[in-house]
Amino acid sequence: MVFIKSVNAKKIFDSRKEKTILITIKTNVGVFSASSPNGKSKGKYEALPYKKDLDYDIFTIKKFKDYFSDESIDCFDDLRRIEDIVDGHLGANTIFALESATLKALAKEKKEEIWQLINENYKNKNLKFPRLVGNCIGGGKHSKGKKPDFQEFLLIPKENSIFESQKQNKKIKSLLYDNLKKIDRNFSGKKNDENAWMTSLNDKSVLDILKEIVNNFKIDLGIDCAASTFYKRKKYHYLNPSINRDKEEQFNYISNLLRNYPIFYIEDPFDENDFVSFSRLLKKYPNRLIVGDDLTVTNLNRLKKALEMKSINAIIIKPNQNGFLSKVKEVCDLAKKNNIKIIFSHRSGETEETILADLAFGFQADFLKSGISGKEREVKIKRLIEIEKKLKR
Ligand code: PEP
Ligand code: MG
Repeated sequence: MVFIKSVNAKKIFDSRKEKTILITIKTNVGVFSASSPNGKSKGKYEALPYKKDLDYDIFTIKKFKDYFSDESIDCFDDLRRIEDIVDGHLGANTIFALESATLKALAKEKKEEIWQLINENYKNKNLKFPRLVGNCIGGGKHSKGKKPDFQEFLLIPKENSIFESQKQNKKIKSLLYDNLKKIDRNFSGKKNDENAWMTSLNDKSVLDILKEIVNNFKIDLGIDCAASTFYKRKKYHYLNPSINRDKEEQFNYISNLLRNYPIFYIEDPFDENDFVSFSRLLKKYPNRLIVGDDLTVTNLNRLKKALEMKSINAIIIKPNQNGFLSKVKEVCDLAKKNNIKIIFSHRSGETEETILADLAFGFQADFLKSGISGKEREVKIKRLIEIEKKLKR
């Protein structure tokens, strides 16, 4: 049983040098800390990261100290006791960090790994590892200058182990450096917010390079269009090259990309309100992964709507889009029940927190999206490799 005796919060900096929250709890089994990441291409329907702002949450959380110390936490579902206290008073980043720290304490008290706390039923089952999804080239809101309009070009290795998958992703990423150097006159070797290569090439030129990679390696290809970020006044505003596409033109453009390139995974190809275009695409390409991120924002009602409309066959889970881990569990459970693939994902502004790997494995996600390089992203992949090693022993 874990008792929270006191709670403290402070500002730290994420990988983008923006402020985020670190929470430290004192418990009967020791002191535990956890932090929350920050998104940039956020979905309109995400929970707010802070009730008013970061300072307000840092001040407010301390006031709940005595309420927390009245509660005992003995299993994952007991997190609801904390949630009942903070509901309506704190933002999603704060709640996620608080619950993460609490899970760390519970794991220590139970002498278990964090992932083992998530679902008792998984304990004796044949557990699978998520496949890695790594951002190799980036554009959109995460990059600067002349750039692709799509936000992320993703490598999804088909290797059997996480260790080999990560090795593969790193190898291809350095190969891409050489390719970009040859093809993109403006390429300077700079990396974007998620440590992916920045290029002045456009979407199609990047896809042409990656098409070759798919032919030569055991790898699948993905893209995150993050289309809501360039959808304004009923048009998709592409800059590279400059062209505005209306809803129908966007649908045709995306359909053609899926026909002409070996794209296995496509995230947010349409605006976050356009469930209909998602479902048209899924109907046309039922064998590709049509992924909701800004569309579904780790929210049960948005997932229900996407299920009703048959809009997606895969969903991004970003715990801090929601905040409440009990609700994240509900979203995962409903997705699984409906054969929707689950992708646990980092944010573009990351910290050195590793709990995402435990959550991904604990919830038996199909994929973990956590970049390829940069210490904030690699610590999560390393944690998954550590779990892999321990289970093989
Ligand atoms: C994403 O859109 O998948 C993403 C990681 O972006 P952000 O964290 O900036 O919302
Ligand atoms: Mg996304």
